Amino acid sequence: MSRQSCDVLIIGGGMVGLSIAHQLLEQDVTRSIFVIDKEPKLGLHSSGRNSGVLHAGLYYKPGSTKAKVCVSGAKRLRDWVSKQGLPINPCGKVIVPQRPDLDVQLDLLAERGKANGAEVEFLDSQQLYELIPEAKSSSDRALWSPNTAVVKPGTIISQLQFELSKRGVQFFLGNKGWKVQPEQEQLQLNDGSLLTYGHLFNCAGLQADRIAHQFGIGQEYKLLPFKGIYWQLKQSCPIQPRANLYPVPDLSVPFLGVHFTPSAEPNPLVSIGPTATPAWGRENYSGLQALEPGMAIANLSLLTHQYLSNRGSFRRYVHQQAFLGLPPLLLRAAQQLIPSLQSNHLEPSQKVGIRSQLFNHKTQHLEDDFICLPGPSSTHVLNAISPAFTASFALADLILERSGFLESDIS
Ligand SMILES: Cc1cc2nc3c(=O)[nH]c(=O)nc-3n(C[C@H](O)[C@H](O)[C@H](O)COP(=O)(O)OP(=O)(O)OC[C@H]3O[C@@H](n4cnc5c(N)ncnc54)[C@H](O)[C@@H]3O)c2cc1C
Repeated sequence: MSRQSCDVLIIGGGMVGLSIAHQLLEQDVTRSIFVIDKEPKLGLHSSGRNSGVLHAGLYYKPGSTKAKVCVSGAKRLRDWVSKQGLPINPCGKVIVPQRPDLDVQLDLLAERGKANGAEVEFLDSQQLYELIPEAKSSSDRALWSPNTAVVKPGTIISQLQFELSKRGVQFFLGNKGWKVQPEQEQLQLNDGSLLTYGHLFNCAGLQADRIAHQFGIGQEYKLLPFKGIYWQLKQSCPIQPRANLYPVPDLSVPFLGVHFTPSAEPNPLVSIGPTATPAWGRENYSGLQALEPGMAIANLSLLTHQYLSNRGSFRRYVHQQAFLGLPPLLLRAAQQLIPSLQSNHLEPSQKVGIRSQLFNHKTQHLEDDFICLPGPSSTHVLNAISPAFTASFALADLILERSGFLESDIS
């Protein structure tokens, strides 16, 4: 039986796992890095299925992990994308209040943005008109984030994998049935071969809680998958916003609301979404694919309980966002930002993603920040929801710092 050893074994070759490998090389910590993924190709889950927005850091509570890593992570990823010659649309983002009572939230977002080191400006209705003539603000004010940009997530994942392979990182793809023995610091692959490691990073996104449980870690957390579907503006639609257009979010709910995003193509395609509807499986992207009936029933009962007890403003989420997968409701949400939008301007998009949102059974709340848990010779990254893609390089530094691995003796 073959046996190979590495200093660092990373489970999951999404943006978080690849960024950890990248930062280990950048910081010259070690070159002995293995990445295993259950899929034959990278980017098949959240990192290849997101909106591609490099967030500027306006939403997050100052002091939270998201706030700490979003601004610097976005800047670093943007620089890397430019250096690699990958597509980027530096189009900025405007946030408009969809109801007059939400205007006050713009001040809060501006304060949070400034505290987090992001650039923000207020726009009046004339300035908003010059940017997106069809957009409506219910209060004649809007918030402008000049540093928000849009990238093509799939191309970033492919390029990062290519760069890491060139620098000696070994990939073991298509490994679904591996088994780990935490006490022996070893993992057995599908073909029976053994990988021994100094430290293991669990970056398995939608499956990360299940893997953490195998290490006896994070038993209070369970993933509650929320599906995000998108529509898009037809190329023939006379309205084509040239910047991201977002509603004021309900900050008590971890989803930003349906928004308009121009893509990073030379002739941008504008997507509308994503929705946030409970999913019937962690990887149930369409139809009956990867349906998990047991999980779906358990989650439905949990969500009903959350609704009845209204923990974490759950009723507001249900009323505002749970049914936006229905086209007339999605159109109505989009018309709050662009009233002249018509149903014949829209067509369904192929894009669909599922968020790795965690529910905490102890507190009975949806978690809102990234979670990084220590385990035996291992670190477990849970709840890597938005903006983990944006923040990935800075988040990877923070994960490495918290893992204690940098201080350990590397053989
Ligand atoms: C609809 C949607 C829109 C979003 N929009 C944005 C945005 O605009 N900007 C932003 O910054 N963020 C956005 N996000 C969030 C962002 O996509 C995620 O935070 C980020 O991609 C998380 O990366 P990850 O590496 O943790 O997970 P993933 O990309 O899911 O990677 C996990 C990897 O682990 C592998 N894996 C799973 N289980 C196993 C196993 N048992 N063994 C081996 N491998 C395994 C998977 O195959 C996968 O390749 C969005 C997310 C969604 C769903």
